[in-house]
Amino acid sequence: MTAYRGRFAPSPTGPLHAGSLVAALASWLDARAHGGRWLVRMEDVDTPRCIPGADTTILAQLAACHLLPDEPPQWQSKRGALYQAALGRLVRTRKAYPCACSRKDIEDALAAQGRPRVRGQEAPYPGTCRSGLHGRPARAWRLRVPEGVVRWTDRRLGPQQQDVATEVGDFVLRRADGLWAYQLAVVVDDADEGITHVVRGEDLADNTPRQLVLQRALGLGAPAYLHTPLVLAADGEKLSKQNGAMPLDLRDPLAAMNAAAAVLGLPGQATSLPDALAAWVRHWPFLQSPGD
Ligand code: GLU
Repeated sequence: MTAYRGRFAPSPTGPLHAGSLVAALASWLDARAHGGRWLVRMEDVDTPRCIPGADTTILAQLAACHLLPDEPPQWQSKRGALYQAALGRLVRTRKAYPCACSRKDIEDALAAQGRPRVRGQEAPYPGTCRSGLHGRPARAWRLRVPEGVVRWTDRRLGPQQQDVATEVGDFVLRRADGLWAYQLAVVVDDADEGITHVVRGEDLADNTPRQLVLQRALGLGAPAYLHTPLVLAADGEKLSKQNGAMPLDLRDPLAAMNAAAAVLGLPGQATSLPDALAAWVRHWPFLQSPGD
């Protein structure tokens, strides 16, 4: 098996909370259980949503929890040249194209095709600009998604599938506001950093097929994926800042880590944090043998 390289990739839109700590702990445990390396990447491409200083806070929170990256952390905001090069490759091979559509244009086109917008769901792109801009100015760049169902096996959720072409359509690589889309940045970075195993929250599971499609378009291999259980807020939604997640209380990191471990089905430990981490590595249920 290629030497294991895992990562935790928080968006610095605020401090870590009980939910994001689960993904941090799970990715660290998976790396340690496989004798691998664990990296941290700040996903700060969506700059309007980032909070100044949240990156420093997150690194301090991880350190207080004894989750220390094996290599210097990376910031996506400094890696635009890599994303530009990847987009250039896709444009040259005609796998990406410019798009002039506003959100309203997309909704109108879908309505005209008899596919009205489903509330709460991102509208699939109807393909308007696939054949050219027809004189309209380019706003964004999209991937030309090939037809067919994308299948993959999640290490916890089992076999998964999505018809990306019809359910999502040609998705955005560079946004109309000039910012890089998460899908492009994460695929380029996972490949550039040699990530072999992605461990992250289950809310991102439905992004995986888009990332697999993009990896194929760029001629990149795919890492293995494990999506971890989410911490739910009182309203039943994924815990997030919007529904009242509190920043981690670092006066008692062991208590915060015990709570995160419980979400992962690991027994609580009353011992010191280093001993607790060592015990969880030994109990980690997602050990993959070579060739799995
Ligand atoms: N930045 C994403 C988040 O904080 C994680 C993306 C990923 O792990 O691929 O939810």
